[in-house]
Amino acid sequence: MEIVLGEAVSIGRGVLEQGAVATYIPELAKSDPMALAAAYCGLDGRVCSAGDTGTMITMQSISKVASLGLALELCGEEVVFTRVGVEPSADPFNSIMRLEMRAPHRPQNPLINSGAILVLSLLPFSGSSERVAAVLETTRRMSGNERLGVNQAVAASEKETSDRNRSLGYFLRSVEAMEGNVDDILDSYFRQCAIECSVEDLAVMGATLAGGGVNPMTRERVFSRRTALVLRALMMTCGLYDGSGDFAVRVGFPAKSGVGGGIMGSVAGRAGVAVAGPALDERGNSIGGIRTLEELSKSLSLRVL
Ligand code: GLN
Repeated sequence: MEIVLGEAVSIGRGVLEQGAVATYIPELAKSDPMALAAAYCGLDGRVCSAGDTGTMITMQSISKVASLGLALELCGEEVVFTRVGVEPSADPFNSIMRLEMRAPHRPQNPLINSGAILVLSLLPFSGSSERVAAVLETTRRMSGNERLGVNQAVAASEKETSDRNRSLGYFLRSVEAMEGNVDDILDSYFRQCAIECSVEDLAVMGATLAGGGVNPMTRERVFSRRTALVLRALMMTCGLYDGSGDFAVRVGFPAKSGVGGGIMGSVAGRAGVAVAGPALDERGNSIGGIRTLEELSKSLSLRVL
């Protein structure tokens, strides 16, 4: 398996120069654009990895899967999906346009920024610290890594440059789509996006979803079978934003990307497959990561379509 992963990473490296690290969050601009790693976690709980496996990245939008899973478990599907849709959006992840155009002003899906901010507002906690602690705990249970934590420098950096996400939050409140203290909800959002992890952590998280909600390493049930299925379905249709269709054609299994350069893939009944490579394409998805996953999908027959 290490050899297969290593070969896929070498092919992925071939496109790194066409990408660029995210700079709109200044702290992310310090990431190494040439880093690339891949990991695989089978449902037997064994993890293999190759490439620059020491690379630590922040989860960014991958954390939206954990907070949505938590909301589905705590509030129920009906409550969550009356407030946020489940349809793909062909717009960039931080777009405000569609929100305003049509009433009711519901975010299109929970994996774009507006939807993820709204999902956080639904969690039954009194403030940002409690809310973040619960999301962090969920990522720890999904990854089986008790040491996961928030990179404070990245969280602070995003908070300082958050005009766009602030606009989304205040717009949602102005049309009564979201209740609560917007600043407090956004604070949780910035901190959950800054949860730091390795490519192996992401592979185990993907494997937890592939195993119907049970972490194959710790054997702990993190989500119900139904929640795991809903999360995989949304990852398949919306996980790479306006690049989700292209990813389905090229790679063909549910996955969620983040602007830190991670992609967490989940192949039901088989494995979690992840990549970490901070150089992004124009849609904010890891350019080398997609190329690596495309290769792995072929060599390991991971396509679910
Ligand atoms: N924290 C990032 C943002 O809100 C997450 C976006 C992403 O990973 N695509 O802009």
